[in-house]
Amino acid sequence: MAGVTLPIEIHRVPTALYRKPESLRVPGPILSDGINQIYLRDAGEGYLRAARFGWTADRVDPDSYDETVSRAQHDDVRRLVEQRVPAMRRTPSVGGFSAIYDMTPDGHPIVGPVGDIDGFWCDCGWSGNGFASAPAVGAHIAAAITCKTSEVDLSPFAWPRSADATPRPDVSWVRR
Ligand SMILES: Cc1cc2nc3c(=O)[nH]c(=O)nc-3n(C[C@H](O)[C@H](O)[C@H](O)COP(=O)(O)OP(=O)(O)OC[C@H]3O[C@@H](n4cnc5c(N)ncnc54)[C@H](O)[C@@H]3O)c2cc1C
Repeated sequence: MAGVTLPIEIHRVPTALYRKPESLRVPGPILSDGINQIYLRDAGEGYLRAARFGWTADRVDPDSYDETVSRAQHDDVRRLVEQRVPAMRRTPSVGGFSAIYDMTPDGHPIVGPVGDIDGFWCDCGWSGNGFASAPAVGAHIAAAITCKTSEVDLSPFAWPRSADATPRPDVSWVRR
């Protein structure tokens, strides 16, 4: 509507659902396994959800994409999660779903005024990583919009980026 084109692609990411093994006590709200690149957390009583860290390029049309999880994707997630939690080896799979990420070229969000349109601000392109930081970014972008002082410099997330911006680490970041 504003006539601004943003470099955001929509990519599909699978999440697998399992019945929770009786022997498993998830320690805390989430088990985030950097070595095996997988996370596991409760999905309602008696169920767990699991997915890989990061993303793999799987560009789709956000208005029409396959929301299911294939057998190969299921096997991939289970192989990783059972390396951390052996009790997951035989627990029944109860399906899953695919959702979408708003990917930018470097995996970083676009935050701040974009283009020459007075009053047009962006806070988007979080590339599958925008939930945790949302309250802080919301507070700081609100301060910037209302010309108040903000303790955090959001300029690294301006678009276009500065030439020395580095991409967000890829899925192998823990091993490097
Ligand atoms: C499967 C999955 C797992 C994730 N896990 C994590 C995680 O562990 N940690 C993390 O930090 N991030 C995670 N994320 C990413 C995080 O959820 C997103 O980065 C974040 O929700 C993006 O926030 P947003 O406000 O930009 O967009 P959204 O949360 O999508 O909010 C946009 C809102 O705008 C509304 N809207 C759209 N169009 C219109 C319109 N025309 N008029 C009015 N309203 C409209 C939508 O209904 C929606 O409510 C995950 C994402 C997915 C898909």
